[in-house]
Amino acid sequence: MHSSSTGQPQSQSQPPSPSPSPSVTVIGLGPMGRAMAAAFLDRGYEVTLWNRTASRADDLVARGARFAPDVAEALAANEVAVLSLTDYAAMYEVLEPAAAALAGRVLVNLSSDTPEQARAAARWAAERGAVQLTGGVTVPPSGIGRPESSTFYSGPREVFDAHRPLLEAVTGRTDHRGEDPGTAALFYQIGMTMFWTSMLGYWQAVALARANGLTAAGILEHAADTANSLPGFFAFYAERIDAGRHDGDVDRLAMAMASVEHVLHTSAAAGVDTTLPAAVAALVRRGMDAGHAADSFSALADLMGSGAGA
Ligand code: NDP
Repeated sequence: MHSSSTGQPQSQSQPPSPSPSPSVTVIGLGPMGRAMAAAFLDRGYEVTLWNRTASRADDLVARGARFAPDVAEALAANEVAVLSLTDYAAMYEVLEPAAAALAGRVLVNLSSDTPEQARAAARWAAERGAVQLTGGVTVPPSGIGRPESSTFYSGPREVFDAHRPLLEAVTGRTDHRGEDPGTAALFYQIGMTMFWTSMLGYWQAVALARANGLTAAGILEHAADTANSLPGFFAFYAERIDAGRHDGDVDRLAMAMASVEHVLHTSAAAGVDTTLPAAVAALVRRGMDAGHAADSFSALADLMGSGAGA
């Protein structure tokens, strides 16, 4: 029971008035935006939502979020709007009709797209009196709201600093990579470059295993061990690549050529799609043709970087 209801004054001083709840707008309620809105609700935020398909907000509204009748009202409700849309084209489609409501707003744009799109959107927002903080979230919806999860940010440092607690509600770790609004998108795309090719490598391995009567579960340990060995390779080669060295003392491209052809032929013999291993073999072949047979296969990083691999 609160002391005020007993009629017994506890002290002469006024009790401190409760600080207002932090508040945020979330626009875009795909799996990511929904997880973000839920994470804000978990932390006591007053959450205003907008999504093209209103029904995606139902469970969040049942938890106390408010669904704004239109985008302009969603923007007007709070200084910060977190955007979680498929891409920046969707952002323009959503925000353009409400552009007059953008002045004075901070757009934490967690939609993914290219660095150029992120820079253009930051200019577009600035022309309308808003500021964009670009974000690249490195985890799937299950990682949202977790202390160990991380997001790359770029854009004005003072805006990032001013909204740190809000950003840390999305992922506990926040990594500001500079003022250029494109940088967070670049870091995101670096990660995605590895993610998609790695996952396709895994699908290839699963297809090959299944064509040989094995199951995905049956090769899981082997697949995980193989993936876990990669960071050691990254660290070994990063130092040498930055020093401009591609010594063939540990591995030679000629060895890689033979190996990737074994991979290609193993898939072909099993009747499995060979698009991916054929592309890998083609890249290695170009390195051979460029005279790198006795160099490390890391020489391909230079070749691909210069565009000479194409
Ligand atoms: P989705 O594409 O599933 O959903 C994003 C939202 O965009 C939806 O609310 C959708 O509205 C809206 N949208 C798309 N096109 C339009 C449009 N033309 N007009 C209005 N609204 C539109 O994405 P996710 O939630 O999975 O991801 C959001 C962002 O986060 C993406 O950029 C994604 O690349 C990135 N990301 C995703 C991860 C993941 O694991 N899912 C991980 C890390 C980043 P509606 O509901 O009406 O369809």
